[in-house]
Amino acid sequence: MTQISSAEQDTLQRFIFENAPIRGELVHLDSSWRTALSHHDYPAPVQKLLGEMMAASALLVSTLKFEGTLTIQFQGSGPISLMVMEANNERAIRGIAHWQGEIVDGSLKTLLGNGTLAITIDPTKQGERYQGIVEITGETLAESLEHYLTHSEQLDTHIWLAADDQQASGMMLQRMPGDMSDENREDWDRAIALATTIRTQELLELPVKELLYCLFHEEELRLFDAEPICFRCSCSRERVGGMLKSLGIDQIHAIIDDEGSIEVGCEFCNQKYSFDKVDAEELFAAEIKIQPPKQTQ
Ligand SMILES: [Zn+2]
Repeated sequence: MTQISSAEQDTLQRFIFENAPIRGELVHLDSSWRTALSHHDYPAPVQKLLGEMMAASALLVSTLKFEGTLTIQFQGSGPISLMVMEANNERAIRGIAHWQGEIVDGSLKTLLGNGTLAITIDPTKQGERYQGIVEITGETLAESLEHYLTHSEQLDTHIWLAADDQQASGMMLQRMPGDMSDENREDWDRAIALATTIRTQELLELPVKELLYCLFHEEELRLFDAEPICFRCSCSRERVGGMLKSLGIDQIHAIIDDEGSIEVGCEFCNQKYSFDKVDAEELFAAEIKIQPPKQTQ
C-alpha cells in the first residue's frame, strides 16, 4: 500500500461534491500526533481513542466560521475517566486522557462507562461561549460524535476515524444545511454508502487523491488546498502566573515557605513552571499599578 507523501502529513483537506450539497474533509496527523503522544505513556486502547479524538477535533474545528477554540470532552465512569481534546482555528491541537487500572480494549461504552460527551465552542473575539452536552452513546468514538452532531446540531454528519501509535486520520461527510429534496436524499445516501466501504488501513495509509478516487470515482469532486495542522499547547508562564495569583498572596507565601518554591506542570505538554520567592514577589508586585507622572503645562 502507498504511504502518504510528506506534503500530506499533518494536513486537513476539504472537498465538495460538485453535483450534490455535500462537503467533506480528510485529515492526516503524523508528527503532530506523535508529539501529543510523546508527553505521556498511554495504554494502547487509550492511545487509539485519543488519536481518533485528535483527528475528530481537527475535522470539527475546521467547520468553525470564526476565530475560537473547540473542545471535545468525554467524561465517564469507566476505566477511562476523562478525555479532552482542544483545537483552535489555527488548527493547533492539544489533548489528554486520564485512566485507572488495566485497560482492556473494547467498545467506547466499555472503556468510558456511563458518562457525557460535551462539545464547547469558545469564540476568541465576539460571540458567546456555547456548550452542548449529551450522554455517551454508540460503540465507537465516531458514532458518538455523529449522534451528537446529527441530534444536537441537526447536521447530517458521518465520521470515520482511525489511529495507531504513528498516525491518526479521519474523514467527515456533512450534508450542507437546507431542505432535503428526494434527489438530495439519494445523493446523500449514496455518498455515505460509498464512503462506508473504507477500511481502517486505507484511511491511515492512502494518499488523499487515491483514497477519494477509491471511494468516489463515479462522483465529481473538487479538492481544496491542504491546510497544516500541528500539536501546540496554549500554556505559558503568564497563564500559570495568573492562576497562582488567583490563589492569593498568603496562600502562595505559605507554599513557598513550606516547599521553597512552587512547581506547576502542564498536563498537556509536560512543561514545568517553577516560581520561587522572588518570582512570587514579582507576580504580586505587578499588581500595583504605577501611575504615569502628571503632565505639566
Ligand atoms: Zn502545556
